[in-house]
Amino acid sequence: MKKRIFSGAQPTGQLHIGNYLGALKNWVALQDEYEAFYCIVNLHAITLPQDPASLRKATFDLARIYLAAGVDPTRSTIFIQSDVPEHAELAWTLSCIARMGELERMTQFKDKGKGNAERAGVGLFTYPILMASDILLYQTDLVPVGQDQKQHLELSRDLAERFNRDYGETFKVPEPYIPKAGASIKSLQDPEKKMSKSDENAAGSIFLLDEPDAIARKIKRAVTDSGTDITFDDSRPAITNLLTIYRLLTGKTDDECIEHFAGKGYGHLKTELAEIVVEFLRPFQERVKQYDDEALMQILKPGAERARSIAANTLSTVYERMGIAQV
Ligand code: ATP
Ligand code: MG
Repeated sequence: MKKRIFSGAQPTGQLHIGNYLGALKNWVALQDEYEAFYCIVNLHAITLPQDPASLRKATFDLARIYLAAGVDPTRSTIFIQSDVPEHAELAWTLSCIARMGELERMTQFKDKGKGNAERAGVGLFTYPILMASDILLYQTDLVPVGQDQKQHLELSRDLAERFNRDYGETFKVPEPYIPKAGASIKSLQDPEKKMSKSDENAAGSIFLLDEPDAIARKIKRAVTDSGTDITFDDSRPAITNLLTIYRLLTGKTDDECIEHFAGKGYGHLKTELAEIVVEFLRPFQERVKQYDDEALMQILKPGAERARSIAANTLSTVYERMGIAQV
């Protein structure tokens, strides 16, 4: 039996190169070795206000992005979270064993809630419990995510262990898979911050559907560090970030990248990087257009059915262990 992986992205705004390098690229690489479940987590998206028509469209567009990135529906299960109601049901159950204190420690809540607990949505606060449900329903072995999700994944593990301790072995305790390079691609405008879909400043992100001109302009205007050497160096996060994107898209090693840019200036790096990104995204964007609504339904409907058959099993065991009667 193959081990299982589960991961997802939110249909909030447009996916960026950080989502691709930190998550999607690894989803594709892992789908042979593992039995993979890739979810479009639309219930997570509403933790912040969304325009309904845009959210619906973004949900299907995200499926197109998964496919264009190379997720293969004949090998991996692709589905929409809300098509499998067990996600929300298990989230309720787990919210009864999660503790306020552990959720209060989640840094993403502090960031996205802008530190204002009085005004922040309850869903934003309990979001990590829904994420734990997403993962635990599938008895997941491995969860490929970016660095920003590490804390949430630790909470998923804690909830699984607590449930198993109190009600008997029920959930597999999942391991994170966080890539060594690319796990936290930074904003081009502020290398202290990760690139984010929900960042108000679009100049900080290279979106997967950006036009070549926009890509070149954003890279050209990216902030740089003091000094002139082009090397990987934690004390110079802006250049390290650009070089990391270059390295991951070209498949070169660190040393090859450093050698390649030896004696060259930042301008040179930016020009070359822009070309590499544009050439990488061109065929990607062509592939996104290939899937019409009909083709998507042919993938998402059986995906939801398959996911549901597994999720229902897990939820039924959970209810039985907890004494929630099912007739
Ligand atoms: P939002 O701002 O709406 O939360 P996001 O950019 O964080 O959007 P998500 O849909 O929350 O994107 O995350 C999808 C996946 O992409 C997750 O595995 C997450 O860890 C990863 N990811 C997000 N941002 C980055 C980044 N800057 N670098 C690498 N991986 C990232
Ligand atoms: Mg996020």
